[in-house]
Amino acid sequence: MKSFPASIATRVVPLVFNAYRSQRLSILIYHRVLPQRDPMRAAEPTVEEFDTQMRILHEYFQPLPLLDAVEKLEMGTLPNGAVCVTFDDGYADNEIHAMPVLKKYGIPATVFVSTGFLNGGRMWNDSVIEVLRSCKGEVLDLRELDLDCYSVGSTEQRVHAAERILQQIKHLDPQDRLALVNEIRKRGPKLPDDLMMTDAQVQSLAQNGITIGAHTVNHPILASINNDHARREIQESKQYLEALLQTSIDVFAYPNGRPELDYTAQHRDLVSELGFKAAVSTHWGVGTRLSDNFQLPRFTPWDRHPLKFAVRLLANYRNIDPLIATPG
Ligand SMILES: [Zn+2]
Repeated sequence: MKSFPASIATRVVPLVFNAYRSQRLSILIYHRVLPQRDPMRAAEPTVEEFDTQMRILHEYFQPLPLLDAVEKLEMGTLPNGAVCVTFDDGYADNEIHAMPVLKKYGIPATVFVSTGFLNGGRMWNDSVIEVLRSCKGEVLDLRELDLDCYSVGSTEQRVHAAERILQQIKHLDPQDRLALVNEIRKRGPKLPDDLMMTDAQVQSLAQNGITIGAHTVNHPILASINNDHARREIQESKQYLEALLQTSIDVFAYPNGRPELDYTAQHRDLVSELGFKAAVSTHWGVGTRLSDNFQLPRFTPWDRHPLKFAVRLLANYRNIDPLIATPG
């Protein structure tokens, strides 16, 4: 990892802030932070990369707790370069690897937890990836499950096969998909049961000043289930975390998070009605004073190079969120 050229940043960053100094809130979204590069999860940052990114936020931006930032956005008192750090799903590495880095730089963060996977659970996509990781032979034949026969002799082939299978089963009914994943699981050895946090790790995050938010129980695409089911998913994750942490859970992240595709205005209203104070989507852009606090946009630069990361993060401050709050 090349070091961030401070001289360029010192000259460029203030210029760009001056250009984009009006009230704008950038919310970063992460899922995992890995001890080293994992070819099966090439998009996830390593601890070293995450450390560099947090150092950039610490030195050149203004990291804020999410609700604090939302409040300042409403009041018109948001500092230039305001940024929030968020994580989705509740991976154990958030507590093991990300938290020490966040503490090192004093960066507030919010972790949105899907409570149904705590204490040994696994998300369906992770089960597929872990089966493929553990494949030993040249092929994985899933034709009897109405899938294909995949070449898995090399790491590249295993990565490709995992992507292909995820693509093929992504849009199945959740129950059918889970049943299919359970069949696929039988083709591999015992899969890891420590990918997601335990209750104690969630408590550890909270004790260390990290805000915990809700992210449903089972991570369903809300737009694909009925309203009663959606209400239970949202409410039960909130209640579980409130009982665990003995505090109110005020922020929510929609699973997958694309407006109109993964959730609708009805879910937005439901989240508001259930007592949350703000919610985040995965729509790209920055929040403004006109943004809907229950559909705040998020964006994370994917660049590994520190300067490119900083430049893309700055460029995002120009990307105004179109999801405007409507009165009433
Ligand atoms: Zn998620």
